[in-house]
Amino acid sequence: MNNAELSAIYQQTLNLRWSPVAVRLMRPGEEIPAGMMEPSVPLRYCQSIIAARRGNCIYMPVQKHACPDGSGILGLAEMSGKLKSGDLYLLFKKLPNLKIAQKMISTRPEFTPGTYSATLAAPLEKANFKPDVVIFTLWPEQAMWMCCAKTYATGDRQVFHTSGYNSTCADLTVHVMTSGEMNVSFGCYGGRASSEIDDFEQYVSIPFDQLPIMAEALQKLAKKSIPEERRKIYLPPVIDSPAQPGREDKIKVEVRVDENKCTVCGLCEAFCPASVFELTQEKEIRKLSVVNAASCSACYTCVGQCPERAIQLQTQHS
Ligand code: SF4
Ligand code: SF4
Repeated sequence: MNNAELSAIYQQTLNLRWSPVAVRLMRPGEEIPAGMMEPSVPLRYCQSIIAARRGNCIYMPVQKHACPDGSGILGLAEMSGKLKSGDLYLLFKKLPNLKIAQKMISTRPEFTPGTYSATLAAPLEKANFKPDVVIFTLWPEQAMWMCCAKTYATGDRQVFHTSGYNSTCADLTVHVMTSGEMNVSFGCYGGRASSEIDDFEQYVSIPFDQLPIMAEALQKLAKKSIPEERRKIYLPPVIDSPAQPGREDKIKVEVRVDENKCTVCGLCEAFCPASVFELTQEKEIRKLSVVNAASCSACYTCVGQCPERAIQLQTQHS
């Protein structure tokens, strides 16, 4: 799969608002790929990611990096003494004292100055280079499906590494490059204050070599699970009698199957975790019965899975 094909899969399965952003840290002496634009004024690294998600292909040599934190963390330049010491975090009142500031700094992932000479950021579908990482701007629901895709492909739980400081550079780029693992970030003070990232958006960054396996997993999830979750198929139609504080209500659930609609496909019986239904066959005749309504927990799985909309639940408090 090429970059454009990969981008299309992520955009379609997750219904992305923004392009995934391909990022590469250029090694010294590396040639600038064709089609990259050098901004006329310095930008912060996080601003270049936001500009790239809108379709721009941005090449930024060290002198075009406006954020002194970012260029130091990315290994493009030596960080200033004030930033290294933690003094500036205190001045901005972002951290309470030097001890805590130095702990945050010493545990932050960063590259040695001079390791890299420039950054490339471009929409994945236009990226004319091999990215190190790909950064997605997502809603939490889309980030959830990214996590599911990773678990679908590997069975692994994900462990994330972030501090709320130095988001795009440390969390989404250096950490992902050095650990080889997906990471999330909610942005940081500088990144949010200097870009139009929305309050309800967050980031997920993936090592480039993991894109294909996760794309494949997302395609599988998009066949059933993603659209069903988005249609909120287990949402009870009416929540009309919430429990009163102090009352210990017993809930009685009545499971009704409309025989005129039911085709006896058996999906409700297969999906019901409480074995409420029974499917029987006598000669040629299949029959669905509600045999164990007392065990129904009102999860609405059968209602959501029934293709004929033949099931109704009636819940009563007593
Ligand atoms: S899923 Fe619906 S149509 Fe299929 S057996 Fe159950 S009630 Fe009938
Ligand atoms: S609501 Fe859940 S527990 Fe009750 S019958 Fe349907 S699938 Fe089974």
